[in-house]
Amino acid sequence: MARDKASKEPHLKTLGDVVRWVVDELGAMCPAPERLQAYNQRPNDPALRDVRYHVEEAQCRICNAERERWKASSQPG
Ligand SMILES: [Zn+2]
Repeated sequence: MARDKASKEPHLKTLGDVVRWVVDELGAMCPAPERLQAYNQRPNDPALRDVRYHVEEAQCRICNAERERWKASSQPG
């Protein structure tokens, strides 16, 4: 099984790079606010792992700013 390993790589190395680039360039791929909020409440929900990726790995500024706002407003004094 001598397969050709020298495949060409895109200049964006990781999926994180790609997502970050897309978020920066297009501002796209943000989850719906309801899903973002659901992720806040249930960060371990497998159904929300794309949201997790979006905010934790890609570190979308928009969504993280939203989360910060919710965190600040949900603190009980
Ligand atoms: Zn986002």
